[in-house]
Amino acid sequence: MPATFSEAGADVTSCPKRMTFGPCGGVRADGACEMQPEPCVFGAVVPWPGPPAAGVAVTAPLVLTDLSVPPGDAATLSATVRTLAASCDAMLVGEHQDRPDFPPGLLARIVHAAGGSPWVTLACRDRNRVVLEQELLGLRHDGLATVLCVTGDGRAYDVRPEVTQVFDLDGTRLASLAASLGLPTAVAETPTAAPTALRPSRLVQKQLAGAGIAVLNHTDSSARLAAFMAEARQAGLVIPVVAAVAVYTDARSAAALGALPGLDLSPSLVADVLNAADPVTAGIDAAVAHARELLAIDGIAGVNLSGLASGRGVEFAAEVQAEVGRRIRAEHPR
Ligand code: SF4
Repeated sequence: MPATFSEAGADVTSCPKRMTFGPCGGVRADGACEMQPEPCVFGAVVPWPGPPAAGVAVTAPLVLTDLSVPPGDAATLSATVRTLAASCDAMLVGEHQDRPDFPPGLLARIVHAAGGSPWVTLACRDRNRVVLEQELLGLRHDGLATVLCVTGDGRAYDVRPEVTQVFDLDGTRLASLAASLGLPTAVAETPTAAPTALRPSRLVQKQLAGAGIAVLNHTDSSARLAAFMAEARQAGLVIPVVAAVAVYTDARSAAALGALPGLDLSPSLVADVLNAADPVTAGIDAAVAHARELLAIDGIAGVNLSGLASGRGVEFAAEVQAEVGRRIRAEHPR
């Protein structure tokens, strides 16, 4: 492959994820690559070439709830969807490097059959381009789901070392492919990932590629999110944006949030919840208050309830998420 240079003069063909539209969301705070002990090769946002793609407009869910269920367990997935169905507008199925699940199309069918509106994540790490195309064609055939197109984090060295990492495409190119097939297409961005100054523009490039909606990873403060949104809109962002709300009600679910990108929970906020006479109620109250704050930001059209919610098991965690969702919907009738 001939060398291709970023505006900063770096050879971007040496990106370990073979990104075209970098930098990915895994750039370390000091500018280092997430995959190798070298600086990230992208010193600037790579602009979307050509005219804006005509993507499918996506109505923002006011409440988009993460589905956190064991992989390959249709009964538990269906039961969880039924618990959540009346509390949210859509449900998001993630993809995990260490927990292979059913294919996205099958997950969408199960969620839909149980009464939910499915969003499914499609990551480039574990599928070559042909398989990504197969998944997209299947999703288009069923017409049930919005597809969240992501590059995917690099696989940790100690997780399934026998498994290759593909990265035929990156999230932006996958979004372009999904949009070209007429699928409702969502993309992700991490406002707090280095280099933070590039993130608003990078999200705009995904919109130009055909994305109809964006889901943001956690930010450590509402002020920071508001600044990100102002810059993104200034740069031309018009698609609706969904922001992340962390849901936790005990030590285990609070600790699990440490793994979420961009989330730097205030220790005093966590202590207030965990030391409350009723931590479950306190955690629900905190999540609802956070959602209220985020929904007041210009351009934020919905919230994504993420995190484990509770360490007491899938069913109890879903009840917690459902209560948070119900209260947010009650405060923001549509
Ligand atoms: S941080 Fe991401 S985009 Fe940058 S070189 Fe590494 S893998 Fe590529």
